[in-house]
Amino acid sequence: IKKIGVLTSGGDAPGMNAAIRAVVRACAFYNVECVGIYRGYQGMIEGDFKEMGPRAVKNIINKGGTVLKSARSKEFMTTEGRQKAHANLKENGIDALVVIGGDGSFTGAEIFNSEYKFPVIGIPGTIDNDIFGTSHTLGYDTALNTVVEAIDKIRDTANSHNRLFFVEVMGRDAGHIALNAGIGAGAEEILIPEENLGLDRLIDSLRKSKESGKTSSIVVVAEGDKIGKNVFELKDYVEENMPEYDVRVSVLGHMQRGGTPSCFDRVLASRLGVKAVETLLEGKTNLMVGLLQDKVTLTPLEQAIKGQSRVDAELVKVSDIISI
Ligand code: ATP
Repeated sequence: IKKIGVLTSGGDAPGMNAAIRAVVRACAFYNVECVGIYRGYQGMIEGDFKEMGPRAVKNIINKGGTVLKSARSKEFMTTEGRQKAHANLKENGIDALVVIGGDGSFTGAEIFNSEYKFPVIGIPGTIDNDIFGTSHTLGYDTALNTVVEAIDKIRDTANSHNRLFFVEVMGRDAGHIALNAGIGAGAEEILIPEENLGLDRLIDSLRKSKESGKTSSIVVVAEGDKIGKNVFELKDYVEENMPEYDVRVSVLGHMQRGGTPSCFDRVLASRLGVKAVETLLEGKTNLMVGLLQDKVTLTPLEQAIKGQSRVDAELVKVSDIISI
């Protein structure tokens, strides 16, 4: 392998820049060329490439988002699109790819590999932490810190006005952000897709909280929660059943995706970026680099895509116990 292409695809996440930097510098260290591919697979189809040496990635380790930009590419889902992408890679002498993204991006990488035997390695980059084969995806830790900080601020108002707040957080179909940030911010209840508490038990729990002397409450709701009502309908439901509560809703939204990456995400990105390059240079392909028990590990892309990343049952228990 003489020239490695690197791209970011799908939703952006803090730490992607640190990963790009690590890939570019590991290439320089091992004397292979590195090419940045802009706008994910769409840029691969359009030949939007830039050669990157170690100085091209200065001052980005501390930046959120992705300097290579990200995109969702419908064209890459067609054989014609992938054919164009392959022709561009060949023309530019690129003979391996590092794909930083989520499971959709990994699916694209797998298909591309199966069609052209093109070496690909994935780095998990998404704040949702919904990828099998890694305890942490890039951006997840930063998002947790952002959410905890936001809930701390909301709590000031909840306390001052004796209010109940429903705070909706991101995470797609996974409850990792809600569960961890909920525990970290001292939420009274945490509603996650993996555990359907049910409306009756929610009301019951809020009643108990009130009876035990709590004057304000924070309920963290994962966006993918399956209680059967969205966060605004939940507010109405609780107000109907507990008129004594003054309920407010806060949907945190895209602020959770941005911002300065945490130290944890920067270090993780650096480790995964180096390992991705080393793995390609060892002649391996179709693997995702990840972190398990604080060791950098390799998981077949297929498993990373199909496997379920589960929330930790112990965390659910802790959250139940400490919200008494
Ligand atoms: P996030 O978790 O942030 O959404 P993601 O990587 O899962 O990230 P997707 O939008 O699902 O984001 O996928 C990113 C891109 O990967 C798509 O826009 C498309 O170009 C490519 N891709 C996804 N699925 C396929 C597929 N089945 N075949 C080819 N390419 C695909």
